[in-house]
Amino acid sequence: MPKTLNAPLNAVITGSTSGIGEGVATAFAAEGWNVMLNGFGDASEVEALRAGLEEKHGVKVCYNGANMTKPEEIRSLIDAAETTFGQVDVLVNNAGIQHVSPIEDFPDEKWDAIIAINLSSAFHTTKAVMAGMKQRGFGRIINIASAHGLVASPFKSAYVAAKHGIVGFTKAIALEGAEHGVTCNAICPGYVKTPLVEKQIPDTAKARGMSEEEVIENVILAAQPTKQFVTVEQIGALAVFLSSENAAQITGAAHQIDGGWVAR
Ligand code: NAD
Repeated sequence: MPKTLNAPLNAVITGSTSGIGEGVATAFAAEGWNVMLNGFGDASEVEALRAGLEEKHGVKVCYNGANMTKPEEIRSLIDAAETTFGQVDVLVNNAGIQHVSPIEDFPDEKWDAIIAINLSSAFHTTKAVMAGMKQRGFGRIINIASAHGLVASPFKSAYVAAKHGIVGFTKAIALEGAEHGVTCNAICPGYVKTPLVEKQIPDTAKARGMSEEEVIENVILAAQPTKQFVTVEQIGALAVFLSSENAAQITGAAHQIDGGWVAR
């Protein structure tokens, strides 16, 4: 039973072919953890990422392209990780999408997709790993929420609903795992310069009647008192710490890493 963290342990990180998930996967691999990657992307680029991490860090890195809108594929992702590694010790629910629009024009299918990927997928992955973690007396579930899990912005109704939802889900799972060595925490980043943020700049500009430069200056960086983006390396380091033995008493919490955004 891995009551202490003797590597190699095994992490599954959803949505890890890009951005924050890739940063978290890299941080775990650098600490000697085996990693199951997931997410979409060009097959040769995904393979280059997988093989590069494996070679650089001397750990086992696998990839499974399960679509986080499909519960049966999510189950097969966890099955694949358990078959390959023997067990899943850390689950990072990171996959997510965004859509920016006033509610009047918000497409129904975008609402459904955001709730499915940003919220319901974490239910399905957690459901699949929980029994094994409890039985072994060790597990770490980390949900990449957002500052939008704690406060709102206009024109992001589905995203804000999903992220507030996952902060609540985090608390419920923390209570269920508390006596079994299984912690569950949310990480709430402010703005991180990833494709997810870069893609929303034109839509935000349209919704707010601003230029794209004004969006970066007056919306994105204005939200963060430090006036700097959070980095994927900083989020990866926090996820690794939350997976350590020293974090055993940290559970059910929403950890802000947002340059002071939510302090306002
Ligand atoms: P990103 O677009 O760079 O990466 C998203 C990842 O999710 C990719 O690997 C993509 O392939 C994957 N993905 C998307 N739809 C999927 C699906 N249906 N099935 C499987 N994988 C899917 O975005 P990011 O900025 O790295 O965002 C990662 C997480 O961090 C999201 O949950 C996002 O809400 C959250 N977040 C991002 C920011 C930010 O500023 N970038 C801030 C706070 C929270």
